Amino acid sequence: MSFAFDVSFPRHSTTFDDCNVLLIEDSRSIASFLAHRLRTELGTAVTHCASTRAVRKAIAAPGRKFDVAIVDLNLPDSPNGEVLDMAVELGIPAIVFTATFNLDMRERIVEKGVSDYIIKDNDRALDMVVASVGRVLSNRFVRILVVDDAASARQHLVDLLTLQQFNVVQATTGTQALQMLEQHSDISLVITDYSMPDMDGYELTRRIRRHYDSNQLRVIGISSSSDRLLSASFLKAGACDFVYRPYVAEELQCRINHNIETLSQIGQLRAAAFNDYLTGLYNRRYFFERGPVQIDKCLGRHEPCSVAMLDIDHFKKLNDTYGHEGGDKVLKAVAAKLKPLMADQACLLGRLGGEEFGLLLPGHDSAQAAILCETLRQSLSEMKVAINDKEVSITVSFGVAEVRGRENFDNYLNAADQFLYLAKRYGRNQVYSDRSILDDPASRAVGSAVGS
Ligand code: GH3
Ligand code: MG
Ligand code: MG
Repeated sequence: MSFAFDVSFPRHSTTFDDCNVLLIEDSRSIASFLAHRLRTELGTAVTHCASTRAVRKAIAAPGRKFDVAIVDLNLPDSPNGEVLDMAVELGIPAIVFTATFNLDMRERIVEKGVSDYIIKDNDRALDMVVASVGRVLSNRFVRILVVDDAASARQHLVDLLTLQQFNVVQATTGTQALQMLEQHSDISLVITDYSMPDMDGYELTRRIRRHYDSNQLRVIGISSSSDRLLSASFLKAGACDFVYRPYVAEELQCRINHNIETLSQIGQLRAAAFNDYLTGLYNRRYFFERGPVQIDKCLGRHEPCSVAMLDIDHFKKLNDTYGHEGGDKVLKAVAAKLKPLMADQACLLGRLGGEEFGLLLPGHDSAQAAILCETLRQSLSEMKVAINDKEVSITVSFGVAEVRGRENFDNYLNAADQFLYLAKRYGRNQVYSDRSILDDPASRAVGSAVGS
């Protein structure tokens, strides 16, 4: 599986408008800084409570649901961290934020089952809390596969990941793990034990890497073996990380977070590389990378497929009349109109450059593609774009060509471009395809001239 053709844009949004954070903190300055940052940086709602009494009231309020709690352990009416028990008992993922910390306290916090803890001992502590809240909220959208034949060891890991709100699936053998990867294309990370009966974790990692590269799937090896070379073997086989058992929960948590973060950053880079910044559509580069793959799939299934090009009519005049900004508004409006109309997963829509858009329509022969383009043309001609207090209308022309065999991708686009040329030449505001040529003798001569 090649990652270059398999763009997955960031798997979760970076704003959490529908989430509510319970902020339990008796320092007014910390609470107000933190609440402000959570609202502005993550977009969450924040309910602040400075005492256990206030927490009781907040959680009793009808319809109130908290997605995560930030818990200051030392409140005047909760000297021994009793407030943490309240959050944990209610099943609210808790992030402890504490000034006093020692090993005993760590044991107690970890035992209670918190998602994370952050110590108020440096000026980056608030950054760390905000990042931790963001992780807890987004981990729900991250699927992790745990592979281990030993039930108790597997459960221990599953519990740890569940506390951090990950979406966890499990496999007891390497073979089952490979099947699950096929079933769940959204798995981001595999954590695999080494010693398993049917296939060891090292072999599993090697097989995973035959199909999934580390830009789309991370692998962490784990083992209680005393063989110090095992980590090197795993890493050489394509694992991104390795941890020896018994592991320290915090260390494993950090390693998992780094891997998930790397994957998310790769997703953002891909999105930036393949996105047209003005319209938010796929850009030319993506269209040319993904297009051949889609066509190959169609040809393999013996399904029809067509390529279409859309060009806005007299766009230059529009720019001259309303300025470049006015033109940009039109480009954005056209993209916004086309996007939902082209929502079919198999179709591909991109801005190829300027006022030109490309469409790839799997499952459509040129007659069906021309009908679809005609619907799009009509919708766009009815659209009004507000520019400088004026309501501006536009028209567009389409060229449609059917894929008739395995050829260079450029050839398909050139064919569509030639029909687009005819659509322009014969009056604009229309759809032209190979069928139009057959139906319209006047353009036949031009069509063959263009095609020659
Ligand atoms: P036709 O009907 O034959 O397609 O004529 P046209 O005026 O639409 O086509 P032409 O190719 O002559 O002009 C396209 C114009 O689009 C020229 C260029 O300055 C403008 N353009 C290209 N990219 C952008 C952009 O990103 N924003 C804006 N506003 N204009 C752009
Ligand atoms: Mg144009
Ligand atoms: Mg043009």
